[in-house]
Amino acid sequence: MAGEASKTAYARAQQVLVGGVNSPVRAFRAVGGTPYFAAYGEGPYLFDIDGNRYIDYLMSWGPLIWGHAHPEIVRAVAETAAKGTSFGVPTELETEMAETICRLVPSVEKVRMVNSGTEATMSAIRLARAATGRQYIVKCVGCYHGHADSFLVKAGSGVAALGLPDSPGVPQSTAERTLTVPYNDEAAMRGLFAERGAEIAAVIVEPVAGNMGCVRPLPGYLEAVRSITKEQGALLIFDEVITGFRLGLGGAQERFGVKADLTTFGKVIGAGLPVGAYGGRRDLMQMIAPEGPVYQGGTLSGNPLAMAAGLTSLRMLEEAAKRGIYEQMETYGRRLVDTFCDLGRKYGIPTTGDAIGGMFGLFFHDGPVVDFATASESDQPLYARFFHGMLAEGVAFAPAQLESGFMSCVHSESEIEQTLLAMERVMAGLG
Ligand code: PLP
Repeated sequence: MAGEASKTAYARAQQVLVGGVNSPVRAFRAVGGTPYFAAYGEGPYLFDIDGNRYIDYLMSWGPLIWGHAHPEIVRAVAETAAKGTSFGVPTELETEMAETICRLVPSVEKVRMVNSGTEATMSAIRLARAATGRQYIVKCVGCYHGHADSFLVKAGSGVAALGLPDSPGVPQSTAERTLTVPYNDEAAMRGLFAERGAEIAAVIVEPVAGNMGCVRPLPGYLEAVRSITKEQGALLIFDEVITGFRLGLGGAQERFGVKADLTTFGKVIGAGLPVGAYGGRRDLMQMIAPEGPVYQGGTLSGNPLAMAAGLTSLRMLEEAAKRGIYEQMETYGRRLVDTFCDLGRKYGIPTTGDAIGGMFGLFFHDGPVVDFATASESDQPLYARFFHGMLAEGVAFAPAQLESGFMSCVHSESEIEQTLLAMERVMAGLG
């Protein structure tokens, strides 16, 4: 809970930073109140500048699958930084990162590193348009793919929380080329393709939606989207910026056995440093400059610090996967969700949720959440009370209901137990 130090820091920040923040969700508009300012982190804990300690389930919105300041990641960054922070010529670290991604994600044969998830998705649709000669892309209502113009059409995450899913400043001609369908609605996807199939370059989808809360695909949905796109000559882009290396080593594609043509990454592959990547079929990736004519570049792309942090994280994940770390994260997430739902029943509060791999979602909602429409029916004021109640108990969830929670490899039985006890007290106060 923000104390005097955070309040003072926020007031100062608001003088010079838009909204006092550098990404809108950090301003806590969906839950009200003042954001706590981070001082430092340690494993599953974040400490704010007021001296409060939180069990952190925000985990920097997903990248910190090894928690805060993991010694091996810190060491890798420090050792790499000592040799130089950027060179503007290739390093072997970049190749090693690309080799690791290609080895672990079966549909990816060639990779391009970028600096954010937004850059990855933006570049992937440029490539899809070039490869197909078609102009239109399809996205799902409530999915968030970053803030490039083409994606600010019925977007989720912070854009939805602020009621700005269609942002001013996006040219109408660009927005018109993004077609939307509800997530998990195979019939709507088929209908759209029946009407406009020949104009559609690609479908981009979060295979598990993480920006309308955590919403998994209905059985057969991803398979259907795969076969529709294939039949109609459109590309399938899985936006695995959240799910990559978080649902399992091979991400959603491994978990659901569905291969995309192109895949976008971010978050976990940088372990908290700025990073993104896109990759996929060799014949498609070879269209990017300098092998082909589709331009995309970046001064800091493949930055050695980000590569060193990400590679260390991925290496540790490969080892930990052998001891069942993904199953452990899912079990812990499931316990949070089950307890949340049990307490909901006990206190007469509508609750539902889901946990898959290292992500989970908690909704104050009666009945299943399968898309943005159902997610949006959740009780937002109640979530705000729950959020602040948990924060006062030393547990930090996402400051908006329509976001995912993130488990890390360093959350242990002890943090889960503390969280469940805190949840019992907070839910009792809501009932
Ligand atoms: N795609 C997904 C699924 C995301 O969740 C996000 C960010 O949260 C992005 C893309 C954009 O990534 P970035 O914020 O690094 O630009």
